[in-house]
Amino acid sequence: MLCDDCRNKPASIFFKEVLPDKTVELHLCDECASKRGLLVTKKLSPQEILQKLLRQKSAQDEKIICPNCYMSLAEFKRVGRFGCNQCITTFDDHIKHLIKQIHQSDRHIGRKSSSGTKKGFEIYKLREDLKNALDSEAYEDAAKIRDKLKDYGIEDA
Ligand SMILES: [Zn+2]
Ligand SMILES: [Zn+2]
Repeated sequence: MLCDDCRNKPASIFFKEVLPDKTVELHLCDECASKRGLLVTKKLSPQEILQKLLRQKSAQDEKIICPNCYMSLAEFKRVGRFGCNQCITTFDDHIKHLIKQIHQSDRHIGRKSSSGTKKGFEIYKLREDLKNALDSEAYEDAAKIRDKLKDYGIEDA
């Protein structure tokens, strides 16, 4: 498989982007991928990015503690999942940028499998989606998202 851009070098990277009306698939060599600005996350899966981000520690982490289950942000980063539903609210601001980066990597390198994604982050994303759906009065979507949250055992969404 040759690079779609230069048709010269063998493609080493596969990108898939799902747009509302079509799916764009690209096979690129390292060079062309970097020209398109796509190389930043080339070899990291969302899971790897998550782990990398979770390893970034700050002194503050120990002081941010869930009032319900007493899990600290530092501990959350260590175990990679929430202690309780309240943790999501407690750590909200601190993990929002992590979620954003994982979303971006999903878009650029395609999703191989969602099985590696932490359950807590799935729930967090669903809650965000639910909020957006309600904001835009897409009640049918909201109902579907609520069903998914129920699958995770969350009833109060
Ligand atoms: Zn190329
Ligand atoms: Zn908690």
